[in-house]
Amino acid sequence: MSYINEIIDWTKDRNPGEPEFHQAVEEVLETLEPTVERHPEFVQAGIYKRIVEPDRAVIFRVPWVDDRGETQVNKGFRVQFNNAIGPYKGGLRFHPSVNIGIIKFLGFEQIFKNSLTTLPMGGGKGGSDFDPKGKSDAEVMRFCYAFMRELFRYIGPDTDVPAGDIGVGGREIGYLYGMYKKLRNEHTGVLTGKGADWGGSLIRPQATGYGETYFAAEMLATRGQDLQGKTVAVSGSGNVAQYAVEKVGQLGGKAVTMSDSSGTIVDMNGIKDEKWDFIMQLKNIRRGRIREYADKFGAQYYEGKSVWDVIRDENLKIDVALPSATQNEIHKDHAEALIRNGCFCLSEGANMPSTPEAIEIYQQNGILYGPGKAANAGGVAVSGLEMSQNSLRMRWPAEEVDAHLQRIMKNIHKSCLDAAETYGSKGDYVAGANIAGFLKVARSMLAYGVI
Ligand code: NAP
Repeated sequence: MSYINEIIDWTKDRNPGEPEFHQAVEEVLETLEPTVERHPEFVQAGIYKRIVEPDRAVIFRVPWVDDRGETQVNKGFRVQFNNAIGPYKGGLRFHPSVNIGIIKFLGFEQIFKNSLTTLPMGGGKGGSDFDPKGKSDAEVMRFCYAFMRELFRYIGPDTDVPAGDIGVGGREIGYLYGMYKKLRNEHTGVLTGKGADWGGSLIRPQATGYGETYFAAEMLATRGQDLQGKTVAVSGSGNVAQYAVEKVGQLGGKAVTMSDSSGTIVDMNGIKDEKWDFIMQLKNIRRGRIREYADKFGAQYYEGKSVWDVIRDENLKIDVALPSATQNEIHKDHAEALIRNGCFCLSEGANMPSTPEAIEIYQQNGILYGPGKAANAGGVAVSGLEMSQNSLRMRWPAEEVDAHLQRIMKNIHKSCLDAAETYGSKGDYVAGANIAGFLKVARSMLAYGVI
């Protein structure tokens, strides 16, 4: 058995009942095989063994009172995975499916993603099994306050800087930051994704969706193509999906699908202009369901189906896919249907949206495949720029931040291709992203000795 396979088995044994974490570790470590031969010093220093164990994981009680006066108790999590190259950095997810295994998978991925951005940020992730859906604003506020009343002990602008993720947008960051500021009596860059009036960076809300689309454009350029005239499938209708759809339109493509956990809409005329404005109102202000789009604009609606189910069942022809909802949304049969229906480029806005079997199908068919770690790194990159602006007590104009974002996405794309070629897997963005992200962290860990 290879050294890497030993580490994978050892990790699975030590972390039972955490399938998403196992999946993430396996996916990363398998591609690091060539680094083992070239860097015996990493093996000697136990880097591979140490990198799969978080520095620490905190689990805490979050008690809060709902609008009926009843006490509710949720679980809170923060996994500080690795701070070899900078303060822990990674989002908070509020969703009923959240558990320690999911937070560990996300925190582990974040180490490599943050390293790829070239900015000094370590990896972490947190969240809660709280479901903001169907809660009043006052309930969300009370929950966020209760969450921060415990989390504040473990974070700080030079220690750990959380941000948003699923279920945590501008509203939640506001409540969380308000409570942190009150408890510490300081106005510092401890959270990113803040409002533009109180320390946030312009372009941060847009960054993940824009970055995912820029990454798709970079991949297309390697085949002499661009997004002009392309039909694009986007899943989700949250923060990442909204801005992916906007950017696709700006770059001349046509986004034809969006979804939420209830169903999928298909609009072959393209989701743009007043239709896009409607989505922004629907999802960010009224917090309604995606089916209302179909009612309003006469588009198709498929209840209970994901975008990928619809492509499979309706033979929807698309060129580019931008999965932007959640993990493991694309299974093997979806991947086969994507290829069958003409998809030749897939850039992941969500974290780990493709199962390993789906990835195998992409790779067997030679489509352009940008894994989330690289393709969705624009969000955390601009979070890093928000930290820089907070430290400088300055705010950069939107054009400047967007120019940084485009440069960073270009660099990430190039680093992936360079690392893949150097380590013998030319053109493989998965191997390239993992290896390029890993090397910087591994060298830093080596420098510190065994701690
Ligand atoms: P969000 O604003 O909460 O939106 C999530 C979207 O995905 C919603 O439309 C949601 O539908 C849908 N969704 C969530 N769980 C689902 C499930 N189990 N089945 C079907 N649909 C589901 O979250 P987001 O910030 O856009 O994040 C989306 C993905 O991008 C996540 O994987 C996240 O980790 C990743 N990501 C986000 C950022 C960022 O900056 N926000 C950065 C990097 C990566 P409902 O509303 O019905 O639940």
